[in-house]
Amino acid sequence: MATREEVERLVRQVVGEVLAATGGAAAVAAEPGRRAPLVAANWKMNLLAADVRAWPAKLEPPAGVELVVCPPLVWLPLLREALGPAARAALGAQNVHPAPRGAFTGEHSCAMLRDAGASWVIVGHSERRALFGETDAFVAEKLRAALAGGLRVILCVGERLAERDGGATFRVLRGQLTAALADLGFPAPDPATLVVAYEPVWAIGTGRHATAEQAQEAAAFLRERLAERFDWRWALAARILYGGSVTPASAAELAAQPDIDGFLVGGASLDPAAFSSIAAATARAKERR
Ligand code: PEP
Repeated sequence: MATREEVERLVRQVVGEVLAATGGAAAVAAEPGRRAPLVAANWKMNLLAADVRAWPAKLEPPAGVELVVCPPLVWLPLLREALGPAARAALGAQNVHPAPRGAFTGEHSCAMLRDAGASWVIVGHSERRALFGETDAFVAEKLRAALAGGLRVILCVGERLAERDGGATFRVLRGQLTAALADLGFPAPDPATLVVAYEPVWAIGTGRHATAEQAQEAAAFLRERLAERFDWRWALAARILYGGSVTPASAAELAAQPDIDGFLVGGASLDPAAFSSIAAATARAKERR
């Protein structure tokens, strides 16, 4: 299998040839590492209808960053209406059930999410794993169903503090990622539809974010595992996010890391101005590269 360096060299060579032939028009999208940054909001179980109506007014989407907002499911249609037809952000759900229909009280299918306006769904969030007993196998089932059901997926993986302290971070990340992707057959999904979020559990909602070095190291490790699972071309096209107490103050340094392509933002996303600042910091960091 080709290494990351070999694929990057090959793609650079092809890009050079295309540039020479086109005068530069095709450059940005084809260059490895030039993945479209993505910043996603996970509101969790927060905000009421009046907040949802007011939220979009203070949203300032920067150019060049894809935004996704995942409100509580009940607010999806209201948020869609409040965002307006200009579609300044895509909508996502925080959960999905893999079955297409049936006796699953309180759950929602892929088709229901799509009908309500969602094009994305978060799968494998540590709160669902820890508080609602979601196993690796169930995460894999949801992931497969969501992609097959026309939703794009933000797959969350991350170690607990004791696992990091015990030197088990990479073992945990490898295990969660491998298990989540286990049910995917061939061909590989479009890399635009599957985003991996590195979310160390000890950083979620704690006010303590991973250092840029820790986040980069984990993101690079996940990208290598994606290359093993698919190939380097796929892995270099896929977005890897960092999530865990990201704020406008911490976003720039984290976003400057080469393997971090954006963020999954919890607490700070409740404030549209803070969320916009994080997205703007991401845009600036990626522009500089
Ligand atoms: C999250 O829940 O995915 C998250 C990143 O939360 P917070 O930003 O609040 O740590």
